[in-house]
Amino acid sequence: MRPVIIAANWKMNTTPADAGELAATIAARTAEPSVERVVCPPFVCLAAVGDALHATGVCVGAQDVHHEAAGAFTGDISAPMLAGLATWVIVGHSERRRDHAETDERISQKLRRAVEGGLRPILCIGEPLEVRERGAAAAEALVEGQLRGAVGPHDPSTLADAGLVIAYEPVWAIGTGRNALGSDAAAMAEAIRARLARLGWGADAGEVPILYGGSVTAANIGEFLAEPSIDGALVGGASLKPDEMAGIVGRAGLTAAARLAATA
Ligand code: PEP
Repeated sequence: MRPVIIAANWKMNTTPADAGELAATIAARTAEPSVERVVCPPFVCLAAVGDALHATGVCVGAQDVHHEAAGAFTGDISAPMLAGLATWVIVGHSERRRDHAETDERISQKLRRAVEGGLRPILCIGEPLEVRERGAAAAEALVEGQLRGAVGPHDPSTLADAGLVIAYEPVWAIGTGRNALGSDAAAMAEAIRARLARLGWGADAGEVPILYGGSVTAANIGEFLAEPSIDGALVGGASLKPDEMAGIVGRAGLTAAARLAATA
């Protein structure tokens, strides 16, 4: 049974002075142990958020990790630096692909560093609008290419053992208020698992949690969690709002309970 995961990407929001209080409020409002909850604040807020989330069951994630372990990389943060501060990390977010020219090859290197550092990676993949407008087959081809580039070079069992999570995030849905259809996201999740199987993952492909990301709110999360192939969400803007997070995680708890009941 795959877990249900709700991960919050705070992007470049909050400060060390206010992040802890927000994290504590979200933890208190989302106390749903059947859902794996992760909060990914800016690097400078990791310590404050970690303190606030201590003993709440909510995990802390970083928003990125450098592709080298140490060296002359001014301003960057490596996996060893995150030890004790984060247990998860987002890799390959489309905003980093866009603003920092991250390629699939570079993202693949980051995945390696994340796993070496004991971090659980959330790999983000997704197509831009012009590709989606060419149809589902074009979108799937692009996303499968990203997957091949980032995941293909790795030994499947290494990534599977590290608990790799994939977030399907269509670029045109991120921060736009325009979410994908649940059925389209589910079709993409199936294409992703099929591609993983062809990359040598075998049965492990069916165990990889796949999240949807892109303008998720408490009002639309149900559309995604109604799809058996989708295991949760990576939430951006709405993750800064405790009411939204309470609604999203509350709905996720229903899916987690239904999955548990189905195995009983
Ligand atoms: C994200 O940052 O990964 C994201 C999905 O953002 P938003 O929910 O704001 O679209």
